[in-house]
Amino acid sequence: MKDINWNNYSLETQAIRAGHKRTHEDEHSIPIFATSSYVFKSAEEAALRFTGQKPGNIYSRFTNPTVSAFQERLALMEKGERCLAFSSGMAAIMAVGMGLLKAGDHVVCSRGVFGNTVLMFQNYFSKFGVETDFVDLIDTAAWEAAIKPNTRFLFLETPSNPLTEIADISVLADIAHKHDCLLIVDNCFCTPVLQKPLELGADIVVHSATKYIDGQGRCVGGAVVASEEIIEKYIYPYLRTGGSTMSPFNAWVFLSGLETLAVRMKAHCDSAFELALWLEQQPSVAKVHYPGLQSHAQHELAKRQQSHFGGIVSFELTGGKEHAWKLIDATEMLSITANLGDVKTTITHPATTTHGRLTPEVRVAAGIKDGLVRISVGLENVEDIKKDISRGL
Ligand SMILES: *Cc1c(COP(=O)(O)O)cnc(C)c1O
Repeated sequence: MKDINWNNYSLETQAIRAGHKRTHEDEHSIPIFATSSYVFKSAEEAALRFTGQKPGNIYSRFTNPTVSAFQERLALMEKGERCLAFSSGMAAIMAVGMGLLKAGDHVVCSRGVFGNTVLMFQNYFSKFGVETDFVDLIDTAAWEAAIKPNTRFLFLETPSNPLTEIADISVLADIAHKHDCLLIVDNCFCTPVLQKPLELGADIVVHSATKYIDGQGRCVGGAVVASEEIIEKYIYPYLRTGGSTMSPFNAWVFLSGLETLAVRMKAHCDSAFELALWLEQQPSVAKVHYPGLQSHAQHELAKRQQSHFGGIVSFELTGGKEHAWKLIDATEMLSITANLGDVKTTITHPATTTHGRLTPEVRVAAGIKDGLVRISVGLENVEDIKKDISRGL
């Protein structure tokens, strides 16, 4: 196999070809290395590999060729120096916290992040003496005001789930760096196809590969992408010890997911845009949240920061929870599930599912109203999606 510098290629090409180190069997497609350990040619070689003086596989908790291929490919696509894969998106977020934080540290986190991310900081890191303050994603002044001398990092998702609010990554990166903090961005909703936070100044990108990277709702996985220094110093030692490893089978599924990611994202975005425009015209819809709409408060920022507006649309019904549940139950084809980023369109009532474990006060502060419905727009014909939603409108 030729030794190609994939940095010279575009994302679509990297997504299909980078990361595969062809074996002596000359396979065209990346194999699944279903092996927990590796053999060494001698006792000396084993010692050199364990100390890292000689590169090579050691044990699949932290080195596996299928997982490495996925890591190399996603690192290139995110324009990061190095990527580590994890057993889930939450395991990736956990790893960032475990690697970077110590008792007495402080975190500033967006209120609009994934429900379990809030719980991770609020219920778990707090047990070990790490305090977290939650701020409004789009209130730049609040981010800066919340920073303390012991703040280690700022953590956000943009667009937020489920309200699709957009934060200015470059502005927040500058604020973080001015105060000697890191900026961490959960890039799950955009994927590197739509947005590259590291290019905009973020220090670490985390992913739930479960969503768009898989794209077909099959596997749970996650990833952390950052500089060689951050990964080597803080994240890799934790993965090696903590063991929240991605399985080779899942890595193999995610590798093929990456191969179609660019075309899928474009199709998701096109349908989501059309659906959002249509929803805006429906009388029982009080508000549509979609960054592509002129009515979206950060529409201009979304245009600048993202290459397209994303596949998630949420909307508020005038009839509150009762109408939201009725609309969800009236659908015939859409999947009632909390997953997103699937080829199948999914419909969710955030207030009673993804955000149901938050206290009502936290939920209200995050703007998750009872009449809110979230759609992760899939790749079915968009007219069929509209027809299914209109049954309960
Ligand atoms: C789903 C999700 C996660 C958690 O990922 P898992 O793979 O389910 O553990 C984290 N962040 C965002 C934005 C998500 O949507």
